[in-house]
Amino acid sequence: MLSSITGLLPQEITEKLELDASFRGRQIFKWIAQGAETFDDMTNLSKDLRIRLKEASSVYSTRIKQTLTDPDGTIKLQIELHDGRFVETVLLTDADGRKTACVSCQAGCGMNCAFCQTGRLGFGRNLEAGEIVEQFLHLERKAGKLDNIVFMGMGEPMLNLDAIRKTIEILGSENGRNLSKRRITLSTSGIIPGIYDLADNGPAIRLAVSLTTANEELRKQLMPVTKANPLQDLRKAIKYYTEKTGIRCTLEAALMHNVNTNDQAADELIAFARGIDVHFNLIPWNPVESLPFKEPSRQEVNHLMERLEKGGISATLRTRRGRSIGGACGQLGKSQAEDGKN
Ligand code: SAH
Ligand code: SF4
Repeated sequence: MLSSITGLLPQEITEKLELDASFRGRQIFKWIAQGAETFDDMTNLSKDLRIRLKEASSVYSTRIKQTLTDPDGTIKLQIELHDGRFVETVLLTDADGRKTACVSCQAGCGMNCAFCQTGRLGFGRNLEAGEIVEQFLHLERKAGKLDNIVFMGMGEPMLNLDAIRKTIEILGSENGRNLSKRRITLSTSGIIPGIYDLADNGPAIRLAVSLTTANEELRKQLMPVTKANPLQDLRKAIKYYTEKTGIRCTLEAALMHNVNTNDQAADELIAFARGIDVHFNLIPWNPVESLPFKEPSRQEVNHLMERLEKGGISATLRTRRGRSIGGACGQLGKSQAEDGKN
């Protein structure tokens, strides 16, 4: 049984810890958002109360097993869950010094995308809200206040949407971390019912879709999710999301040498994007050992970008970060694969 309180709202903390006044639950909730990791850190609680709470519950349920730092400033944490499984979480700092937590929502991933390290692990289990919140808090304790959170680590967020909603409610609470919805992005491999669910029931956060290619046959091979979620229906769902929320979606494409970068591939992306309000984020493929892909050359990437721009499509190239520590897109889970655990 998970016995921690990072996944609870103030009232739930009051109930779970059988506190005599609801303001105590709010105090504890606030302490957690400010970085307290133990009840002893919560100095405005009486000593007797702290002793009782320590016996009843722990604050966190996860611990940092390993911290890796890339020369470019990227930090990757390997985090051990209460049942001995592991997830990874990454801190990215951009050129302006803005800090983004890239968090995992599942141990492993069952989507089986052909180009992704996490996909090699297979599905372990869904994370609970507290286990996602703790990734953010662990990073914030290491690196100071963070600006953004992206659900782009291990796993498919649309298959664990309830825990993600709870995470957003906790981190967004005015009594706690007060993180604005504009600073939250979810990336999906393209699960259509999830996109409609998020559009209709909220929260209205930024949405990224890992398109990779707009060629149906190729996408079926690279991303088996395409079989149950065909491209034209996916396109309609993206359009609906923007119409409903007013938020422009990002289409991500991991670029692999001679796979999805030629002129035909560019024209298919242009046709897919025509008539919907989207922006492309191109990610040169990050190497994963034992997978049969190659990084695209610089010319290959530039040529594709130019063709997209000529076609009226806005695209940015994602800077490579965290590669020396296996912390870049699609590389998470390497150490687990070596240990044989997820
Ligand atoms: N599971 C979610 C979010 C995590 S993956 C999803 O698939 O959207 C984050 C991004 O990294 C996705 O756009 C994915 O297509 C991309 N990616 C996966 N493996 C990669 C690799 N080896 N190199 C570069 N990008 C990769
Ligand atoms: Fe899972 Fe995303 Fe990797 Fe696909 S790219 S296997 S959905 S983590």
